[in-house]
Amino acid sequence: MTIDNIIITGNVSEVLNDILNKENYSKIAVLVDENTLAHCYPLIKSNLPQHTLIQIKSGEINKTLNTCTHVWQELTDQSFDRKSLFINLGGGVIGDLGGFCAGTYKRGIDFINLPTTLLSQVDASVGGKLGIDFNGFKNHIGLFQEPKNVLIDLNFLKTLPEQELRSGFAEILKHHLIADRTGWEGLKHKTFEAMDWTTSVPHSVQIKHKIVTEDPHESGLRKALNFGHTIGHGIESYLLNSGRAILHGEAVAAGIICEAYLSYKRELITEEELNDITQFIQSIYEKINLSDLDREEVCNYLMQDKKNRDNNILAVLLNGIGSVVWDQSLDRQESLDSLVFYDK
Ligand code: NAD
Ligand code: MG
Repeated sequence: MTIDNIIITGNVSEVLNDILNKENYSKIAVLVDENTLAHCYPLIKSNLPQHTLIQIKSGEINKTLNTCTHVWQELTDQSFDRKSLFINLGGGVIGDLGGFCAGTYKRGIDFINLPTTLLSQVDASVGGKLGIDFNGFKNHIGLFQEPKNVLIDLNFLKTLPEQELRSGFAEILKHHLIADRTGWEGLKHKTFEAMDWTTSVPHSVQIKHKIVTEDPHESGLRKALNFGHTIGHGIESYLLNSGRAILHGEAVAAGIICEAYLSYKRELITEEELNDITQFIQSIYEKINLSDLDREEVCNYLMQDKKNRDNNILAVLLNGIGSVVWDQSLDRQESLDSLVFYDK
């Protein structure tokens, strides 16, 4: 299936080879981390013409300028010119950082994304946002630039740890809740084990692609994608800064419950809809124990959210299932109440 520059395929190596045969790239670099080198590189290696492998360490902690310096240095040492190609083989960290490096090297060279996590297949590799973290601020430095192609192959997911798979699923769930009522009705009775990635990944990509095409720079509609991410980010930042490991999607799933509760409180969804969402998420994700969490401190993190304006916490709420309202101002008490609801 092809959606614009995104190709969903069961044979990524062959599709990549076809693209390379049509172009006349002077040099090719492939960016990997230790996990994608071990598990994903073997899937593309044999068909790939001569190339330079650039390896970085995995993890958000390495999505930094220092890592970029290493990548730019490699490209410079190997005399990569403007007709070179950069291939990102990995999850969202590789895609964001590698895209940023390619998009800025000599004012930009072509790059292709081969997303290898569920999260990067349905979310990070779609929409042209590239960047790195800076002094502890997430995605603080970056740019918008579209990859030449995004090649999605579900075979990469076979080696992905289950916890990463569940984390990525939170974005699929979000896409359904904000844009596809019928899809949600089908999803909500399924177990995680019964999920069919061959249909839900392309469907999710379609939803995100449609939204970002209509509003590439987030002046309106694209904000819908932040559903679950206001309270979710507050929980994620608080836990990470207090040394408790949590994956992004796990925090987003908790954030979806909180923001669905706020949607219910404002009479935008029914109690039954709220219960369906809560039960579904609780069937998939282990509940984060928030009772020993300093809710006031979570709210302090909410006050620092990038999306806020004039000291207001701005959130996206559901307006019925499959539809949203954005720029909804939340006060501190409402945010606290939603955390209490989650913890009940
Ligand atoms: P990640 O890139 O850190 O990958 C998670 C882990 O899985 C890593 O340890 C990685 O080495 C490993 N891995 C990757 N593919 C594997 C495979 N096939 N088999 C085994 N192990 C594999 O995490 P992620 O969840 O993919 O991405 C998170 C990043 O994406 C964050 O930095 C976030 O800011 C970014 N993001 C960007 C956008 C965007 O629009 N640009 C959207 C959402 C998220
Ligand atoms: Mg997200």
